[in-house]
Amino acid sequence: MVEFPKKKEHFELSCFACKQKYEIDDYGKFYHCTRCGNLLEIKRVKNYFGGSKTRLGVWKYVDVIPIWDDRNIVSLSEGWTSLVECQNVAKILGLKSLHVKFEGLNPTGSFKDRGMTVGVSKAIEQGYKSTMCASTGNTSASLGAYSSRAGIRCMVLIPKGKIALGKIAQAIAYGAEIYQVEGNFDDSLRVASEICEKDNKILLLNSLNPFRIEGQKTVAFEMAEQLGRAPDYVVLPVGNGGNISAAWKGFKELFEDGFASIPSRKSLPKMIGIQAEGAAPIARAFIAGKRDSIEPVVDPHTDASAINIGSPVSWMKALAAIYDSGGSADYVSDEEIFTAQKLLASKEGLFVEPASAAPIAYLTKIARAGKSDEYEQMKGSIVVSICTGNGLKDPNALLKGVTPDQLQTISADAKSLQKILA
Ligand SMILES: *Cc1c(COP(=O)(O)O)cnc(C)c1O
Ligand SMILES: [Zn+2]
Repeated sequence: MVEFPKKKEHFELSCFACKQKYEIDDYGKFYHCTRCGNLLEIKRVKNYFGGSKTRLGVWKYVDVIPIWDDRNIVSLSEGWTSLVECQNVAKILGLKSLHVKFEGLNPTGSFKDRGMTVGVSKAIEQGYKSTMCASTGNTSASLGAYSSRAGIRCMVLIPKGKIALGKIAQAIAYGAEIYQVEGNFDDSLRVASEICEKDNKILLLNSLNPFRIEGQKTVAFEMAEQLGRAPDYVVLPVGNGGNISAAWKGFKELFEDGFASIPSRKSLPKMIGIQAEGAAPIARAFIAGKRDSIEPVVDPHTDASAINIGSPVSWMKALAAIYDSGGSADYVSDEEIFTAQKLLASKEGLFVEPASAAPIAYLTKIARAGKSDEYEQMKGSIVVSICTGNGLKDPNALLKGVTPDQLQTISADAKSLQKILA
């Protein structure tokens, strides 16, 4: 058992925009600020960074996660994923140092598990018996797994025909109730939100849920521990914008707590958010110099299904992370994404899902273009790409591009193979 030096009074639930405060355990009775309608966030009002000595991964940081009683924790040993140094790709891209934080190694194969372990633990702490989410795939797989482990009902809404095979298989295996919505992700989330806002017995677990963000922030703690310092740049794919805001929140908390390896604000990383060209409202807002609004994409399209989102709920937090860190945002084409996916797998042995290859596609793009200020600075820096999900989730996307000569048939004797090999 872990000692709990933390108390409820050490945390605060407030509006991200107007700073209105709320009772933290009331979350779920409302999902947005009841005054201005914006997103809510959890803040720590007392600095404390102990860390469990007996656990690895997300719950190592139990002291800074707002669950009051650790008997409520629902865990599958998520987190503590590998930080893999990628010298081969770094060399190709002309970078001094490139690491991949391989989040595909989490229990259900994506970073969503970091958030779900906290989100579902909180649901149990608050007495919920039912959970719901809208999902491009990974959220439903993760929520399905944690809900089944907790013994509660799980309902997932997915855009019909727009999610990867492996992810549907997971949701089915975990016993989630699956509803295929005739529309896109944004439509699915609208329906799920309406249901949960009306029915206070079902907890909505999309990434607007600030408890999920509290779990996802641990990716920053781990990167700092694994490197012994903060990276100079963190490049990651952006869909709804929850993950980039969570990672940035984690780094800021380390700094505020006086973590030795982040001695000054200057040693915080620049956050670089990458979207797919056909679903890039946050990147386009950044490129246009906007911070206070985005223009949603009505009919988003990319084969990187995890980031096929036109109306990202956490856009405000995501843009804040990008601007406050001195980072940037950009978009890449699907072709660039699939090329990067193959590069990472064939040069480093890391098979990530398409969305997760977007950061590598971006690094390739700026390396090719050469001579931008960003690339010149990045060349000599410590760059970490968060590769958010496992390639095994979406085999179809990869197999689409396979040519017959990559899958030759031979007769069952060594001689015929010898001929081909010669
Ligand atoms: C959910 C997801 C993303 C996008 O994360 P956001 O928090 O929505 O920005 C990126 N990649 C993968 C594999 C995902 O599952
Ligand atoms: Zn508000």
